[in-house]
Amino acid sequence: MIAEFMNEHKNEILQTYADLHKIPEWGFEEFKTSAYLQEKLKAHGITVTKCTETGFIAEVEGTETGPCIGLRADIDALPFTNDKGETCYIHACGHDSHATMAMWTLIALKELKLVKHGKVRGIFQPAEEKLTGALSMIKAGAAKGLDELYGVHIRPIQELRSGQAAPALWHGGSTMAEVVVHGHPAHGARPHLGANAIDGAALVILAINSIWLNPAEPWSAKVTRMHSGGAIVNLIPDKAVLSLDIRAASNALMEELLNKIKIAITGAASAAGCTAELIIGDSVPAADYDQSAIDALAVAIATVLGKENLLKPIITPGSDDFHQYKVADSKLRTAFLALGSDAKPGLHDPHMSFNTEVIIPGTNILVEALASRVK
Ligand SMILES: [Zn+2]
Repeated sequence: MIAEFMNEHKNEILQTYADLHKIPEWGFEEFKTSAYLQEKLKAHGITVTKCTETGFIAEVEGTETGPCIGLRADIDALPFTNDKGETCYIHACGHDSHATMAMWTLIALKELKLVKHGKVRGIFQPAEEKLTGALSMIKAGAAKGLDELYGVHIRPIQELRSGQAAPALWHGGSTMAEVVVHGHPAHGARPHLGANAIDGAALVILAINSIWLNPAEPWSAKVTRMHSGGAIVNLIPDKAVLSLDIRAASNALMEELLNKIKIAITGAASAAGCTAELIIGDSVPAADYDQSAIDALAVAIATVLGKENLLKPIITPGSDDFHQYKVADSKLRTAFLALGSDAKPGLHDPHMSFNTEVIIPGTNILVEALASRVK
């Protein structure tokens, strides 16, 4: 029944993608995209509720009580500079395909009357690329009452081929941070009267590079930028700022790593008579999925693509702000569909292209998975 629906609406679904592809918009500015999606969903009798300026939810309700099952789609594009030096926007990460799949999943669930118990909620989220869109939707109450949440992302050709899919995409967590080393200024001729922040920073770098965590789990902490010194050379500098790019495969590992960094920088800076503070900047949590939700996707993938095309969960170094929903509600069960699409040369490349035909089986998998949770 679902496969027939996909066949019948194939051209319309691909047209939705083509329409969205023509209106790429930057995070929190997805006005045309959001209006387009809302209008189509409403035209199919689906309830739409605005959450933020461009973010909204759309719900298909059953007649019996039951769980609230979510499907999150990101809708933003990426900024690039064209040959004339102007900023332009391109859907170089396939979020237009995710929005298409989510919209048509809701339409199929509604038209085929597949929601019996509870409801299915589409979360159309802005600004994934800014890594703050999920937080804006959570703050606006978009995740209130959710029991489960599914995500989807097309995959680069190096990870999966068209016609293949995996029921989990294990994103790592990332944290950007700064270490500020405070010393004491002095004349270059009398260094013993000061505390050289550059000496402190050098020791801090060594200390960070001497941290070890279990090598069986992926993690890294790198110093990626350093600033110190003033306008004159014969002055002992009193301040140095280091930037860190920190990654960990799990949130527990990230916590352990940040604790070790704090201890390391404090001790190292004090050896040079300085103090150091760690300032945490933008961060994205790591994936933390639920096995029953992963299993639901796996069954759906096997049904639509065949068992031989159901691949093992993928570990990827990339991140996605999808995992903020789980951090906001630890009881939320999540899983994430990694959809093979032959995307090349790679995501975030302005020339990225993929096999758009995979939008049809991708939508089919999501309808199967969500319908199985509300039948
Ligand atoms: Zn993306």
